[in-house]
Order: sequence, then structure tokens, then C-alpha cells
Amino acid sequence: MSALIEDRAQQLAVSLATVRARIEAACRSVGRRPGDVTLVVVTKYFPAADVARLARLGVRDIGENRDQEASAKVAELVDLAERSAATLPFLPTVHFIGQVQTNKAGSVAGYADVVHSVDRLRLVEALSRGALAHGREVDVLVQVSLGQATTPERGTATTAAARGGADPSLISTLARALEEAPGLRLRGLMAVAPVEVDPDASFARLRNLHERLLAEHPTATWLSAGMSADLESAIAHGATHVRVGSAILGARRP
Ligand SMILES: *Cc1c(COP(=O)(O)O)cnc(C)c1O
Repeated sequence: MSALIEDRAQQLAVSLATVRARIEAACRSVGRRPGDVTLVVVTKYFPAADVARLARLGVRDIGENRDQEASAKVAELVDLAERSAATLPFLPTVHFIGQVQTNKAGSVAGYADVVHSVDRLRLVEALSRGALAHGREVDVLVQVSLGQATTPERGTATTAAARGGADPSLISTLARALEEAPGLRLRGLMAVAPVEVDPDASFARLRNLHERLLAEHPTATWLSAGMSADLESAIAHGATHVRVGSAILGARRP
């Protein structure tokens, strides 16, 4: 039994080290400090036990994209941390990176520390109400759509088009609403690069949109961009948060 469990911990240690080395190399090649880029390990479809293994390897930030799975996993993590500090030495910061249905916003605001995917005004209101109801402050990013993406996400039937993201023309309106929403803190911008476009072109455009946002909201310094396949390009274009799943945890099963 323990050989199998040790294998998983070993595997995660190796793939995590590889991704951290990629981030460091990408930062070095553009003269940025590796400490300025936060690695969010996307643990969707993987169990709380993997989150605990990652935390023991020093991972402080995890990403989830479905409320039902995330809320159950976070409850399990809280329980693990209370039962055994050796198993889970700290509760990781929880980043919600998937589309939020308006009727799930109250739930998400109860456990997410950061919501990356705010793309409509109704969601601002719903998250704000949820954060107030839970007595929490939630960091939020405006998710912008960088175009028509149509390739189905690996392991799910969800199309990239269903990933959401506001039209770039709506960023200002959403940012202003977020600045005024009690319980929410505007932190920056997030995007998923469309698959059919060169990521460098998408992330260059994203950086431009981020600079415009920063001109109006100087504290919105976070730029969440880059996944397993394109984190180097995102870092070259100013990403402060990369969201990496499969390169660390392996392929996701539906
Ligand atoms: C699943 C997901 C990721 C991680 O993707 P990988 O290719 O596995 O690294 C990043 N961002 C979002 C929004 C996701 O849904």
C-alpha cells in the first residue's frame, strides 16, 4: 500500500520541480524575478490527498473550477488540517478559476480566497452578497475573453467557448463595479489563451488590456495567464499568476 502512495508523492515532487524550473527559466529569460510569479496548481478532478501531498511539497495555492467538487474538497482539507498537521501543515489559498453560475456565487464566496472568473455584472452582485453573508473578503479578477476558442477541454465535454470571459469592452465597467462592491477586492485580470491563436499574440493583447486597466485601477496588479502548455509565453507577457494542472498532476479523467 505505502509503496503506491509514496510513488504518487514522488511523482508529484518530480513534476512540481520541473514546472518550478520552467517558471524560473522563463522569468530569467525576460529579466523577471521568479518570486513575482505565483504558481497556482490546478487540482480539479484530483483528490484532497493530492492537495495534501502538494502542500507538503510547499504548494500554497490551488485552483478549482467546479463549485460542487471544490466545496467538498475544501471541507475535506479543513478536516484534514484539524486532524493532522503532519498530513496537511496549512490550508492552501483556494483560487476559483472556472465559470461561476450566479446561483453558485454564494457558495463559492464561502470558501474561495480568489475568484479569477468574474465576467458579468450580475456575478459581481451575487459574489458581493455571498462574501458579506460569510463575513469574508474575496479577491477577484475580471476574466476577459480573447476570442473564439472551440477546442474541447481535455477530459471533459466542456468547450472552451463555455469558459466565459467578458468582452474586452466590458472590462472597465466590471472593474468599476468591483471597486465599489462590498466584500470584494479588485486584484486584476485573467484570461485563457484561445487554442487556435499563437499564445504570444494573445498574451501580448492581454498585457495591453491589463495596462489599460492599471491606468484606471493602479492596485489591480495581478495578471492570471498561462497554463501547462503556454506558461513561458504568459510569463514573458507579464503574468503574475500561472494556473498549471496537467503538467503537475497528470492527465485528467472525466
Ligand atoms: C483546467 C484549467 C487550467 C489548467 O490547465 P492545464 O492545461 O491542465 O495546465 C488553467 N486554467 C483554467 C481556467 C482551467 O480551467
